[in-house]
Amino acid sequence: MKILVVGGAGYIGSHMLKRFQDTDYEIEILDNLSTGFELNSQNYKLHNCDLSNKDHVYKILNENKYEAVMHFASSINVEESYSDPKKYYENNVINTLNLLNCMLELKILNFIFSSTAAVYGEPQNIPITEDEKISPVNPYGNTKAIIENVLKDYDKAYGFKYISLRYFNACGAHLDGSIGERHKPETHLIPLILQTASGRRENFTIYGDDYDTKDGTCIRDYIHVMDIAEAHLLSLENLMRTKKSDIYNIGNSQGFSVMEIFNLAEKITNTKISYEISARRKGDPTKLIADNKKIKNELNWSPKYSDLKTILMTAWKWEKYLSKSN
Ligand code: UDP
Repeated sequence: MKILVVGGAGYIGSHMLKRFQDTDYEIEILDNLSTGFELNSQNYKLHNCDLSNKDHVYKILNENKYEAVMHFASSINVEESYSDPKKYYENNVINTLNLLNCMLELKILNFIFSSTAAVYGEPQNIPITEDEKISPVNPYGNTKAIIENVLKDYDKAYGFKYISLRYFNACGAHLDGSIGERHKPETHLIPLILQTASGRRENFTIYGDDYDTKDGTCIRDYIHVMDIAEAHLLSLENLMRTKKSDIYNIGNSQGFSVMEIFNLAEKITNTKISYEISARRKGDPTKLIADNKKIKNELNWSPKYSDLKTILMTAWKWEKYLSKSN
C-alpha cells in the first residue's frame, strides 16, 4: 500500500519514516525542506514541494496512486503564532486545505492528521479526555482546531475518512541516535535544557514559577516521538480496516513540571545547568495531562519509551551528537 508522508523531513515525520522501515508500506515524502532536513528522508523518494502550490501538490498526488496521506507539516511555535498569525493561518489552514482538496478531487479519502493538545486551551478537567471542550487559547491551537472541524464536515459531506491525533508534548529521539529533535529557532523545553548542558547555550530560562502547581512551574505530559510514530501506524491500520474517522489523544497520562524535567536533566547529563526564572510565556496553559485510555483500548497502543529517563537519555545522546557536529 502506497502512503504519502507530508512533512516527512521534519522531527516527527522523520521518526515515522524510521518506523515504516520495518513494514511493507511503500512510502513517499512530500516536503518543502523549510524546517526539515533532507537527510531525514532516509532513502525514501522525496517530492520537494510546497503545499501552497496546489497545482504541484495535485500533480504529485495524481501521478502516484497513494491510498492514504499522513500530514506532519505545520508551523508549531506558539509564541510566533501570536506575532505572525498570518503565517500560521496560511501554513496550517490554507495549505492543509490545498492538500485536502487535492485529495478529495482525486478520491484519496484516508488521512492521518497531526493535531495538538493546544486545541483544549485551559481545560476544565485533568486528565483531559477527547470529549473535553475544544477551546484553544492561542492562534496555533486555533489553526489545528479549524482543520479538525473541516475534517468533521468533509467526512459528513464527502465520506472523507481521517484520524486526528492530538499530541501532547512530543520529545526524545530515535534510540539508534541517528535522528532527533532539531528546530530553528529551538523553543522546546528539553532541547533547550540539554543545549545548555552541552555548552551550546549559555543559560536556560524557566518561564514562570508562579503557576498553581506543586512547584509553581507548568505541568506537561511528555510523550516519546517513537510512541507517537507507533500511534500513527496503528491509526493508519485501523482507518484502512474500519473506514471510521476518529480522534485520539497521544500522551503518557503522567504530568511533569518544568522543574522536575530540569532536575532529572541535571542528573542524567551529570552537569550543573545554569538557569534563571523569568515571567510567564504568553499562551502557556498551567497543566496539560492526557487521558490516553481511548487509544489504549481501541487501538491497543501503549507508550514504550515515554518514561522520563528514556526520553531524556535519548534526547541527550542526540544533543551530544549535534553539539559535536556543529
Ligand atoms: N519552557 C520553559 N523554558 C523554555 C521553554 C519551555 O520554561 O525555554 C516551558 C514552557 O513554559 C512549558 C513547557 O516548558 O510550560 C513546555 O514547553 P514547550 O515549548 O516545550 O512545549 P509546549 O507545551 O509549549 O507545547
